[in-house]
Amino acid sequence: MADEVNPFESLQEQIDDAAAYLDVDPGMLERLKQPERVLETTLSVEMDDGSIETFRAYRSQFNGDRGPYKGGIRYHPHVSRAEVKALSGWMVYKCAAVNIPYGGGKGGIEIDPDQYSDSELERITRAFAEELRPIIGEDRDIPAPDVNTGQREMNWIKDTYETLENTTEPGVVTGKAIESGGSAGRVEATGRSVSIVTREAFGYLDRDIEDATVAVQGYGNAGSVAARLLDGQGADVVAVSDSSGAVYDPDGLDVGAVKQFKNETGSVTGYDGANRELTNEELLTLDVDVLIPAALENAIDADLAEDVSADIVVEAANGPLTPNADDVLAERDVHVFPDILANAGGVTVSYFEWVQNRQRFAWTEERVNEELERIITEAFDDLTSAYEDRETPNFRTAMYVVSIQRVLDAAEEAGVFP
Ligand code: GLU
Repeated sequence: MADEVNPFESLQEQIDDAAAYLDVDPGMLERLKQPERVLETTLSVEMDDGSIETFRAYRSQFNGDRGPYKGGIRYHPHVSRAEVKALSGWMVYKCAAVNIPYGGGKGGIEIDPDQYSDSELERITRAFAEELRPIIGEDRDIPAPDVNTGQREMNWIKDTYETLENTTEPGVVTGKAIESGGSAGRVEATGRSVSIVTREAFGYLDRDIEDATVAVQGYGNAGSVAARLLDGQGADVVAVSDSSGAVYDPDGLDVGAVKQFKNETGSVTGYDGANRELTNEELLTLDVDVLIPAALENAIDADLAEDVSADIVVEAANGPLTPNADDVLAERDVHVFPDILANAGGVTVSYFEWVQNRQRFAWTEERVNEELERIITEAFDDLTSAYEDRETPNFRTAMYVVSIQRVLDAAEEAGVFP
């Protein structure tokens, strides 16, 4: 199990590492490391049996220099103030990495959604939306899905907001169902950028993705789509896991069949097309070409990093490596392609959704995927140029150098108020 690392401290360390390559005023740097504000609220909601339960919920608005705050809402028992602050900061640098006109935010409710009925979850979500109402809006702060939330929750938030505001404003949240103003390609977008970044990484490192072996930790929306698209590019996905454990087949898994099995049974373990089962730790240290952590933060700490056998790590999750794990992997010449680029497809297509909502004009899936491809490959080129020009120890620091500079440029143009 990974050591207990405060994700907010990880974020601050990542910013400091990159700031060493930039000419930045110390006061300005401090501003880049702290959220502008955090809403912390207690939701009181009636359960199906008539009892009242309370839930702790947060929304952190980290930085708005480049545009409205943007980022998901997560439902998980481990949601905390520190986690939400870190995730909101990662959104700032993610949106800057792909150069879309947003700042960063993130929210969450401390809850295990599996323990609640659909109608309870609806009331909990609408109660949170009511608390968020004064601080969100298509020009203020735009929530989206994250761990354990999806179209259904976004539709509830949109409906609550529009009802209370007596308006129609589909761009107040993204990741909606198509019928509620969602975008084609949004569900797949995070996994799609992971697969694009993996393909570009192979090209950059002069390696062939055909028959490359891949292990994926986490088989939710990001992990399962990345697995399917990499399989489509000719790679062999040999192991996948979720919180119940991992399944492994050295000849490559049938990724679609595993997904179907998980949809039917709730987990990947027990899938009988696999050669054998592994623990999550065995999966993370498997001798594969590419490891894709696609679950939660801190999946790989320094100790585990010593045993990682993959040559390339592509981060589909936010913050899956601790800063010490990063150092160990850099020393061991394992190439890590950072979350703020690799999983940025989600927020990029959220941006397309918001643009479409504002224009009240829907794009085709083909157009969405073409624009996504362009944005991610351009950002990949920005990353490798910075890596070569600045000679940073790893790709993460290079990406932060690019992103922080973009935020600084916007802040400088704006000046400081008052
Ligand atoms: N929750 C996703 C992320 O971490 C998507 C955010 C969004 O679409 O705003 O990037």
